[in-house]
Amino acid sequence: MPDRAASTPSDALRLLVEGNARFAADKRRMGRVDPDRRTELEGSQSPFATVLGCSDSRVPFEHVFDAGIGDLFAIRNAGQIVDDIVLGSIEFAVVALGTPLVVVLRHTRCGAVAAARSGEPVAAPHLQFLVDAITPSVEKVRTIDAELPQEAIGAAHLEATLRQVIERSGAVSDAVAEGRLAVVGATYDLATGEVTIDTVVGQV
Ligand SMILES: [Zn+2]
Repeated sequence: MPDRAASTPSDALRLLVEGNARFAADKRRMGRVDPDRRTELEGSQSPFATVLGCSDSRVPFEHVFDAGIGDLFAIRNAGQIVDDIVLGSIEFAVVALGTPLVVVLRHTRCGAVAAARSGEPVAAPHLQFLVDAITPSVEKVRTIDAELPQEAIGAAHLEATLRQVIERSGAVSDAVAEGRLAVVGATYDLATGEVTIDTVVGQV
């Protein structure tokens, strides 16, 4: 395996795009997970990308991007919701680890988006909190299409999430302004295994 270190946003995005192409084509090389790699990483880490995505079991980041241990700084919750804790994790990756790329990754047929789209109360209060975070994107799509296509809501939620990451974190927006970081919005298709890049903020 080549060294996965990437020092620029464009290098990092290229590694992710190439890794996903291998995965989608069922030609994974398997990122390094061997004992030597564990030893190399024991004292430090230098992941080339930070990924905020859904907890959905069908979207395992290291598989989707054909990555190994030490490659990705992963933040997952159902529906890839941004809150202060998530922003803190992103800032740790950007400020302390110096990752040059943050990817906000949505996926097709997301259950959290479907729950928000339905508008029905959910069975548990903390789950409701999560669903409510997606509701503004439902309302945004409602002004355009009363049928509320689920993937349009998912796309609106992705865009809203990406904007929140940039606008609520000065550490992120400063790094983008200085050219050290790019923030990318992307969609993973459960059926094809392909990741599509939807939005790029910063230079890649
Ligand atoms: Zn999901």
